[in-house]
Amino acid sequence: MKVYNTLSRQKEEFVPLEDGKVKMYVCGPTVYNLIHIGNARPMIVFDTVRRYMEYKGYEVNFVSNFTDVDDKIIKKAVEEGVSAQEISQRYIKECKKDMAAMNVKPATTHPLATEEIDGMLQMISTLIEKGYAYPAGDGTVYFRTRKFKEYGKLSHKNLDDLQAGHREIKVTGEEKEDSLDFVLWKPKKEGEPYWESSWCQGRPGWHIECSVMSKKYLGEEIDIHAGGEDLIFPHHENEIAQSEACNGKVFAKYWLHNGFLNIDNKKMSKSLGNFFTVREISEKYDLQVLRFFMLSAHYRSPLNFSEELMEAAKNGLDRIRNGAENLKHLSKNAHIEEMTEEEKEIWEKSREFVTKFETAMDDDFNTADGISSVFELVKYANTKANGDSSREFLEGLYQRLVQLCDILGIIVEAKEEILDEEIEKLIEERQAARKEKNFARADEIRGMLLEQGIILEDTREGVKWKRA
Ligand SMILES: [Zn+2]
Repeated sequence: MKVYNTLSRQKEEFVPLEDGKVKMYVCGPTVYNLIHIGNARPMIVFDTVRRYMEYKGYEVNFVSNFTDVDDKIIKKAVEEGVSAQEISQRYIKECKKDMAAMNVKPATTHPLATEEIDGMLQMISTLIEKGYAYPAGDGTVYFRTRKFKEYGKLSHKNLDDLQAGHREIKVTGEEKEDSLDFVLWKPKKEGEPYWESSWCQGRPGWHIECSVMSKKYLGEEIDIHAGGEDLIFPHHENEIAQSEACNGKVFAKYWLHNGFLNIDNKKMSKSLGNFFTVREISEKYDLQVLRFFMLSAHYRSPLNFSEELMEAAKNGLDRIRNGAENLKHLSKNAHIEEMTEEEKEIWEKSREFVTKFETAMDDDFNTADGISSVFELVKYANTKANGDSSREFLEGLYQRLVQLCDILGIIVEAKEEILDEEIEKLIEERQAARKEKNFARADEIRGMLLEQGIILEDTREGVKWKRA
């Protein structure tokens, strides 16, 4: 399997640090609002990387944080007159809902920055002891960028060029030794959340959070660190400097970055009025369509979002779903059980599409080509399966299709429709529960039915139900 490493700017063979295991960290969102579709891209892309690694047999320890202390969160809290914690908790909850709707698996661990302050204080202290950091007069702690000799190795930037850029901006009123130094810890302002430290009452800088959470949950050396390409500089460059200066080890072996998402060929921004939250998209489309759309391009390419392309994605996804449904339907009505000799041959041939899919995914997760193989499999199945096919054959093709789609996180399995008699049985059970005053169970049953689109109505004549 080859992955493109931003560090070396080339595709490299993926060799994990530990046999059969992958330690992977993906920078998560700052939670001050509903996530937008730009946030959704790394979530979908790296969830797919994880799923493919798992398919290949790796045990993946997948860590993705929530940044829950930040200027934007504090600003929103002040606007609403509530605590910063209330804002971050609210939007973590909403973010998790959107993730579930996009079929993004929950991480092995979703650490919160505010719960990892001790680790940050420790890392900053170590950096000071080692001479890589220093506190200024006002209690701000800075990282001594020039002391880390490899600074710029990820973004391929040259320190002197960076310095020249800084001079133009002109830094005022700061006690930095060097304009390139960045903040590890900063003093609180009036009314802001803060933590005690030996330098000042304050809060961490953004970069130190990820260095610390990655170390705590994955160890000092990890396989993959990933995020959007806008994070390469300065965020990931600074993470490398902090972690490697502190631990004396290579922080991450492979750095993966997804490309930008544009809207109608323009950069997404609130001022241009082309800003969409995932929630807004969900009002118009099944979020599986959004996922399918995102995976229809290579993750490193810029991706353009438009109504037209979303419609095309919807049609493409429908074609796959119809193919799956057709197989399922035929298999239900099949009158032969076992595969015939001829079918066995066709079945063997259909493996070719799986191989093609794997070849595409092995080449730096080329989901666009992977999806093409799925289409080919659907087309092949459509021409080979019919009313005379055996159940084993149909079921085999169906499972093959479902498995490939599952690697992409695309759900094609049609929901089994709940039968009338099952509904009646559940209603009876609910009535019994209510009689026993077990209202929790009664509500649970109502909820279960609602999920299946069954609406209950309690009337004087008894319980009536209808399909929504
Ligand atoms: Zn990060």
